[in-house]
Amino acid sequence: MELKKTFAAATMLAGTMTALSFMSAGAAQAQAQGELVMYCGVQEEWCRAMTTAFERETGIKVSMTRKSAGEVYAQVKAEAANPRADIWWGGTGDPHMQAAEEGLTVEYKSPKLGELQDWAVRQWEQSKQRTVGIYSGALGFGYNTDLAKSNNIAEPKCWADLLKAEFKDEVQVADPNSSGTAYTLLATIVQIMGEDKGFEYLKALHKNVNQYTKSGAAPAKAMALGETTAGIAFMHDIVTMVVDKAPVKVVAPCEGTGYEIGSMSLIKGAKNMDNAKKFYDWALTADAQKLGADAKSYQVPSNKSTPIPPQSPKLSDIKLINFDFAKYGSSAERKRLLSKWDNEVKNLPK
Ligand code: PLP
Repeated sequence: MELKKTFAAATMLAGTMTALSFMSAGAAQAQAQGELVMYCGVQEEWCRAMTTAFERETGIKVSMTRKSAGEVYAQVKAEAANPRADIWWGGTGDPHMQAAEEGLTVEYKSPKLGELQDWAVRQWEQSKQRTVGIYSGALGFGYNTDLAKSNNIAEPKCWADLLKAEFKDEVQVADPNSSGTAYTLLATIVQIMGEDKGFEYLKALHKNVNQYTKSGAAPAKAMALGETTAGIAFMHDIVTMVVDKAPVKVVAPCEGTGYEIGSMSLIKGAKNMDNAKKFYDWALTADAQKLGADAKSYQVPSNKSTPIPPQSPKLSDIKLINFDFAKYGSSAERKRLLSKWDNEVKNLPK
């Protein structure tokens, strides 16, 4: 009996010691491999999936913060003298392009570049090698079919339909200062209608907007919850709600629409630059890019070998405009359009 007890105690002690030595080996490995500070611009679930998988594969400890595209840009700029982040992964390409032009990020030629779609490489070339395309997706809107039915609203098919009186206070979209999604809307409308008519459209839309949210995907979630009838967002963000069985329909606007090239950049003065480059190369691999669909993010991946998730809106079926990423990602144009929107649209009385 005593012997049994002693044996059991000894076994427990040995088990604990083994666990402790494994833990300290793990901790030592993480310490040996160092750290990485990542600012992440996609949905939280995908950011976390990337962080966990990279930590598991490399032993590098990742400290991740999720923010909207315009907010990451503002933070990277504010921290330029003493950067906290090493890598900026995800979010629309325009603030990545602006950061590239302003020298906040550095050039890098990944050995994985040859595995990417042409549009991803073009983003890299246009930014003088300072940002690269990691995914793409089209802008659109959606509507809650239950709310539309109970309010007798006809199925909206075009950007113009969102101006109808029946949508008064029933459209939600983000603020383009914080959100890459909403800046893509601003640049899209200006490109489709011309600047004067485009701003007339945005002013009229303002009358129907119930809230300018901080994050671009928030209107898709609000639509799913029945808090707004219509929401403007990337179509893949609305698809996520449909997959979760929300009574929501996705619309590719009849006039045509813009799209994003989600991007990745290395921060100038990064304290963990070697680890940032390891993440950069890894994030371009076919396997890492599969993590998006697993996290219910249905963008089109930039690695040619990553299967396009079957849920992704088919870009070939959507009337896409010839989006001028260089112009609308340039520092001067982005600043000008945002301040014009602030002055002429955001504060208009309803
Ligand atoms: N969510 C998804 C799935 C996206 O593709 C993107 C843009 O890259 C965003 C969110 C952008 O977020 P925000 O509009 O909040 O900057």
